[in-house]
Amino acid sequence: MNSSNHRLGMFVDVQDVHVLVVGGGGVAARKVRRMIEAGARVTVIAPSAQSELQEMHGNAAITLLQKTFEPNDITGDGANDSSGKVSIVIAATDNIDVNAQVAQYAKQAGCYVNVADNPQAGNFILPSIVDRSPILIAVSSGGASPVLTRLITARLEAYIPHTYSELANLAGRYRDQIKGAFKDWRTRRRFWEQQLSGRVGEMILLGRSKEAQDALEEAIANPTTQVSDGEVYLVGAGPGDPDLLSFRALRLMQQADVVFYDRLVSDAILALLKKDAEKIYVGKRRAEHAMQQTTINQQLVEHAKKGKRVLRLKGGDPFIFGRGGEEIETLADEGVPFQVVPGITAAAGVASYAGIPLTHRDYSQACLFVTGHLKNNTIDLNWDALVQPQQTVVIYMGLVGLPVIVKQLIQHGMSASTPIALISKGTTQHQEVVAGTLEDIVDKVNSAEVKPPTLTIIGEVVKLHDKLAWFKPSPLNSEIK
Ligand code: SAH
Repeated sequence: MNSSNHRLGMFVDVQDVHVLVVGGGGVAARKVRRMIEAGARVTVIAPSAQSELQEMHGNAAITLLQKTFEPNDITGDGANDSSGKVSIVIAATDNIDVNAQVAQYAKQAGCYVNVADNPQAGNFILPSIVDRSPILIAVSSGGASPVLTRLITARLEAYIPHTYSELANLAGRYRDQIKGAFKDWRTRRRFWEQQLSGRVGEMILLGRSKEAQDALEEAIANPTTQVSDGEVYLVGAGPGDPDLLSFRALRLMQQADVVFYDRLVSDAILALLKKDAEKIYVGKRRAEHAMQQTTINQQLVEHAKKGKRVLRLKGGDPFIFGRGGEEIETLADEGVPFQVVPGITAAAGVASYAGIPLTHRDYSQACLFVTGHLKNNTIDLNWDALVQPQQTVVIYMGLVGLPVIVKQLIQHGMSASTPIALISKGTTQHQEVVAGTLEDIVDKVNSAEVKPPTLTIIGEVVKLHDKLAWFKPSPLNSEIK
């Protein structure tokens, strides 16, 4: 917080503190509720109180006085009831003058006072709170922009896992013991950092509390051996737009020590990795395998066994045409712990950004994902299944084989007028959509010089693209980035 604005962020213990709230409407009721939840005793002064406050009236910590405000309510005998001297005042009537008056008397009496909708008139505010008790995050703009405060709070709400409550509680339970075990504060800090961002933290996030506690106890018992906590994160990075990453993907990306990534992972996504992470490119361009699959599998195991947190970052979803299964099979065989984070697969992401719903009640009740990978100039697919009516066919890796695919589909009975679209570099600022029919698509794709990666979508739903395309890529933006 900027010291020039004379404000100090602080968390106050209000257990049994006497708070006077002036006002009987919704705003007053909300503030009363917050005070009560934090353990304060509240006297509410209002000539008439709305039902929300009336309902709370039964609460033993609330005294409701149906009257107009008088200075005496703060300082006089009336205030010194069983709740004790008033030390916090909240002015929450709908009358600016009354609020100002309340604030003035409160300040004179040496109380902290908050004025609803007019923070300058008082001397404290109730910040917006992200509650992961015992962790509390308070956000305030000092009244400059309550809407921005709310937006920031919403971001934190989304970004900070709810399980951090449990993590903080676990840490709290072991704090004294660890203080005793590691006398030097630097060693102690390093220990906590390792545990909270390492296996203990991970186990809590996965909802495995017992294992988290066991891991922490083991680390306390063997502080020197617990460095070998290697793990592999198999993470789907989505089709390209970094905004499509999941929170978990981002979190693991920011804590991995070494990263194996392939070509489909965009630069914008790589930019989100921890700065000092070792980054290893493993290829996967058609016919260019910078690293053989078996070598990749082996490398993942080796690095994890050295105690590294290894990120295997893949385009789209790791379990959809991603060989994710093979990679973790090797890990399972070798007893290396791993977790899998789904990503938005190209079919879902690219179709959305191209305005092509994959199913639609009028046109398509099923959707097939197939690979169009060409081997010896043929593609081994169940063509009869693909030409069924009322379904959408999505072809991954189908650019080079497009002429073969089109020919086979028509030979197996699909109408030559069936709509088809190829989407190149979908969800990125370089996205291009080439749409046509089975009959004309090959020519169109050739003249547009479509670049990989490209996804092919076939079916009546493709017709909706003209109407529903909403994403307007601007290649220039990506240059600036
Ligand atoms: N595991 C990935 C797919 C890997 S196979 C996933 O779930 O998306 C690679 C193929 O995915 C590419 O040949 C292409 O068909 C498709 N693809 C991936 N990203 C794409 C993108 N941004 N735009 C178009 N197609 C994409």
